[in-house]
This record gives sequence, C-alpha cells and structure tokens, in this order.
Amino acid sequence: MPESLDALLAHLERLPGIGPRSAARLAHHLLRVPDTEALALADAIRTAREKIRPCTSCRAPAEVNPCPRCSDPARDRTLLLVVEAPRDMHAVEASGAFRGLYFVLGARLSPLEGVDEAALGLDELTRRAAADEVREVCIGTNPDLEGDGTALAVRAALARVGGRALRVTRLARGLPTGGQIEHQNASALADAFEGRQSTR
Ligand SMILES: [Zn+2]
Repeated sequence: MPESLDALLAHLERLPGIGPRSAARLAHHLLRVPDTEALALADAIRTAREKIRPCTSCRAPAEVNPCPRCSDPARDRTLLLVVEAPRDMHAVEASGAFRGLYFVLGARLSPLEGVDEAALGLDELTRRAAADEVREVCIGTNPDLEGDGTALAVRAALARVGGRALRVTRLARGLPTGGQIEHQNASALADAFEGRQSTR
C-alpha cells in the first residue's frame, strides 16, 4: 500500500466510531472525489481548529469569546444548566424549552476509562455559580450510570459554593412523551416513580 494512503487510513481510524472498514471506505472516497472537494475538507478542519475555542464562560466551542449565548442580554442569567457535551446543549437549544445559560462539562466521570473529576472543570463551574446573579444550577447530565456519577460530583462541588442560597436541581427523568408504560424498561419506570410530582 502507498505510504501516504497508509497514513491517511491511520488518521481516519483514530476517529471515534471509525473502524478499519469505514476508514478504507472514507479514504477511497476522498481519493475519488475532485481535488477541490477533498481539500475543502482539509481546509474546513484547519479553519475550525484555528477559529474555534471554548467560551471562557460556558466552555462551549465558539468563534467569539464570550460566545453569542453567553453575551445575549435576553437570556436568564439567574439559571445555569450543566450539560456533559456541546451536543446536549444544542439539543436543549433546539427544544426552545430553556432560556438560561449553560456550563459544558466536556466530559463525564468514567473511572474505567480513566476520566476523573479533573476533566469536568468543576472549579470553573463553582466560580460561575458563585456569581451574584446565579440563583439556580440545574444538572442536565444523562440519566445513566456515568451521568449519575457525574451529577453527584457536580452536586458535591456546588455544595461548596458558600455565601448564599443556591438552588441545585436536576432535570426530571422518566417516561418519554408518547411512550407507553408497557413498553418502558424497568429503569425508566423506576425513574418515573422516583421523579413523580404532585398534581395539585
Ligand atoms: Zn458561552
């Protein structure tokens, strides 16, 4: 195999979710398309790497600092939503259900994969939570084992924010809208019971 193709394959295989077969498919695709198309991809990677930095306020990737969300005066600065990844933030944004600000952890606790609390940026989070205008921090980690562990670490860090009352909440969980009870798994049903709310 040509050395340069070998190198391309090696880089592609390092991408998440790409095995040797997908890498080969992508590499041959990139060699087949016109120069302009393949090089546009290389340029897009270079430009994104040059322009995008984490927002120093919410840690979401952005081209300006602070990011457009953090500098939007129409957003509710008393409420912070803590999410694991930028894609979670984008999903919440798309729902239109939230008008507060975000904090992106950028990782989830995973002792088995060697991801510890240092990766979560909890010092930055507590600094932000300690800001005068913040009244509530809602933990929006995923409802699974690692998300629950991450939520515990976030809660413990927030408990160290002294000085004034800070409400710490977690997103409700349970049955999806339109989901039929008979089709839910046991943990979704258990969560639904645990998170049950009064109906006046
Ligand atoms: Zn931001």
